[in-house]
Amino acid sequence: MKVCKFGGTSVASAQQIKKVTAIIQSDPSRRIVVVSAPGKRFSGDVKVTDLLIELAHKALAGDSVEALLATVVERYAQLAEELNLGNAIVDLITQDLWSRLSADKGYKELYMDRIKASGEDNSAKLISAYFVSVGLPAEYRNPWDAGLLVNDLPGRAQALPESYSRLSSLQDADGISVFPGFFGYTRDGVLRTFERGGSDITGAIIAASVKAELYENFTDVDCVFAANPTVIENPAEIAQMTYREMRELSYAGFAVFHDEALMPAFKEAIPVCVKNTNHPAAAGTMIVRERDSSERPVTGISADSGFSTLYVSKYLMNREIGFGRKLLQILEDDDVSYEHIPSGIDNLSVIIRSHQLTPAKEARIIQRIKDELQADDIHIRSDFSMVVLVGEGMNNTTGLAARAAGAIARTGANIEMINQGSSEVSLVFGVLKHDETKILKELYREFFEPALVR
Ligand code: ASP
Repeated sequence: MKVCKFGGTSVASAQQIKKVTAIIQSDPSRRIVVVSAPGKRFSGDVKVTDLLIELAHKALAGDSVEALLATVVERYAQLAEELNLGNAIVDLITQDLWSRLSADKGYKELYMDRIKASGEDNSAKLISAYFVSVGLPAEYRNPWDAGLLVNDLPGRAQALPESYSRLSSLQDADGISVFPGFFGYTRDGVLRTFERGGSDITGAIIAASVKAELYENFTDVDCVFAANPTVIENPAEIAQMTYREMRELSYAGFAVFHDEALMPAFKEAIPVCVKNTNHPAAAGTMIVRERDSSERPVTGISADSGFSTLYVSKYLMNREIGFGRKLLQILEDDDVSYEHIPSGIDNLSVIIRSHQLTPAKEARIIQRIKDELQADDIHIRSDFSMVVLVGEGMNNTTGLAARAAGAIARTGANIEMINQGSSEVSLVFGVLKHDETKILKELYREFFEPALVR
């Protein structure tokens, strides 16, 4: 059996939902369908999830919600009309939204999660009604009834281990199960959403639970590209990559597949295929456990901005037992996670995603490091980008780091940090944000268009 997940653009219009239907009809092994909320229909359009977030904010602020609610309902009403579904489904969705809006606002995060999740939930109800109307034996499945249990983190929940055995019974369900992505329930029955883009996670959890032969992730591109197509013109298509490679690439900006969605697939070795709803005949990108990396050591290059560096130096730091632990404790106390810690003998830098920092937090952290660790020098710099070179073949290819550093040198940019994790599947360069694009372009030429390199 195959589990198929359709992203926001795949379910944004009646025309797209008809394509989804044809894809399901064309292969009887496609028995579980996970759907997103309706996404953008055209560039400049607004995703239903974003409308819902705004709606929840308005309601929480006590502002009038009627106009925005009507905009949300209209998105579904237009789908229902163009799919000839009649008004009953629109009434159901309208009532559902009103009941979520009139729920207790005491727990703001719960209120927000409930409203956000309605995007996927109502999308699944509508699509399953459409499947039935064209003769497919489909049924909407609710994540609570099906057993998708998650922990208690609002807006970034994670599946509990028992979900997998509970959800495994979906493999015995008759017909086609239509499952809303993006949310689950705590053991106490409280709704929680995953991180943004989290319908990929739902699909992966279900695919792992039913031990699917394949998890197909349908989106609006033919495949995963070796670099960001908005920066590199016609980048190379990746036919096959490993879970680790996808994980490393999505870490720094490859948004095509949520990084958290890889773990469930990886654990059960479920192959993942990224495919295009608009062009289902294209082979897509297969994400698998192992691949032959001999001919292509570098699979892709990603780049992401929004990083800060906390620089700390202290003479004889290397001999001070517990220095690193105490430093990280200070960050933990302020709820800050770190990405990399490149270190010297008497200094270290902690690379942090900047969105976690505020001026007040920075001042508090610096003060505590001064007082408690008696560091000689401490400062925080923002505006860094991480450029990541990813490939399974890296650990047995000599000279690769030299080539990468040479390519960066050609751009005239300075490398602020280099980090190669022990897995040697990636090489990370910390650079100034304003150098990011030119570095990405030059690295791409070096590894994918070597004939063009002077
Ligand atoms: N609709 C949610 C979002 O926009 C989840 C998803 O589509 O995966 O983030």
